[in-house]
Amino acid sequence: MSFNLEGRTAVVFGVANKRSIAWSIAQGLHKAGAQLAITYQNERLALEAKDLIVSLPGAEAFQCDVSKDDEIDRLFATLKERYGKLHVLVHSIAFAPAEALKGEFVATTRESFRIAHDVSVYSLVALARAAAPLMEDGGSIVTLTYNGSQRVVPRYNVMGVAKAALECCVRYLAYDLGKRNIRVNAISAGPVKTLSARGIADFSDMLKAHAERAPLKRNVNVNEVGATGVFLASDASSGTTGAVIYVDCGYNIMGF
Ligand code: NAP
Repeated sequence: MSFNLEGRTAVVFGVANKRSIAWSIAQGLHKAGAQLAITYQNERLALEAKDLIVSLPGAEAFQCDVSKDDEIDRLFATLKERYGKLHVLVHSIAFAPAEALKGEFVATTRESFRIAHDVSVYSLVALARAAAPLMEDGGSIVTLTYNGSQRVVPRYNVMGVAKAALECCVRYLAYDLGKRNIRVNAISAGPVKTLSARGIADFSDMLKAHAERAPLKRNVNVNEVGATGVFLASDASSGTTGAVIYVDCGYNIMGF
């Protein structure tokens, strides 16, 4: 069993900047020898993302807004033409309107609920469906979740509900795709200071509470999340599918 990804092609969604969890996973995949395709959402973000992406020799940048079916179709047609096969897909994407991540969950509007689930959850299903035909030799799909799916984290609100749905999608996708030797797993990361995290009210309180209460008495480092991404992408995890693996310094086991 090996972490070696030479000869494998990976597509990574969700690199916004050098703090992104997806960037840490992409760097790990690159070190393990994978050929990388990295996507960015739109032209507005192209410049920063492209600068980063070209810093990984051989990595290529592609545009894809995952809320648009035609962009997903176009991307996978391009990936098929460019690489033939695909072995790894990393889904490190989430979005909810800012007002939904403040105040009370009970105030969530129909539109915020729809957007959060469309971008953060349905996108995994759409990407898995598009990637599966290219994963002829089997494959590994990895997504990112957070413990707000299992417990109430004030202000995480609709994103907690979306993460619960995402974790459930991981199980259903793992069942459907298992017969094609495609594995689907989630990493439940402890809080990491990224662009998205800045949108969550009281995020610094969250960081403080995790560091105080976690068995390891600290917050997780983004590279620890990245390393787990490489593990799940590689044959070292060949017997694991439908799982949610916590990389949170043990915070989730605590009752108080
Ligand atoms: P991040 O750097 O801001 O990454 C989030 C990514 O989602 C960005 O690249 C963003 O692209 C992308 N995205 C949003 N809407 C999109 C769309 N319609 N199409 C394509 N891409 C879209 O933040 P992150 O913390 O690394 O988040 C990555 C994942 O980890 C998320 O699923 C998040 O919930 C999860 N997670 C984060 C933490 C944490 O504490 N940071 C903890 C547990 C789990 P744009 O910037 O271009 O919009």
